[in-house]
Amino acid sequence: MLECVFCNILRGEMPAEFVYEDEQIVAFRDINPQAPVHVLILPRKHIPSTNQITPGDVGILGEMILVARKVAEIEGVADSGYRLVINCNEDSGQEIYHLHLHLLGGRRMTWPPG
Ligand code: AMP
Ligand code: ZN
Repeated sequence: MLECVFCNILRGEMPAEFVYEDEQIVAFRDINPQAPVHVLILPRKHIPSTNQITPGDVGILGEMILVARKVAEIEGVADSGYRLVINCNEDSGQEIYHLHLHLLGGRRMTWPPG
């Protein structure tokens, strides 16, 4: 694992605007927001993508969704609505190979996504 940007942030070696953190999961604002609310939710554990998740990771994955729910409330989009996205590999446009959930909200989304 060479130079993972999100591991750098987790070690405090790069700045980020955290909106939530606990023992297993952190959430911080995306540096290049695609919506008025754009928060990334990720495990402290380095898992490159959904292709590497194992049955032992189901707890972490559940926690990520629970944190998404909390972040939606903190950010005031729980009622208006939001989108949760996980990109995997090239066709999805995944840029950072440390599993993360995008929480996007604060504007009307289109479907299908681009
Ligand atoms: P993905 O394409 O799913 O891998 O998403 C990676 C996301 O990380 C993109 O939306 C980037 O804007 C965001 N990003 C990259 N570097 C940083 C950073 N240093 N702090 C916060 N977000 C970042
Ligand atoms: Zn990492």
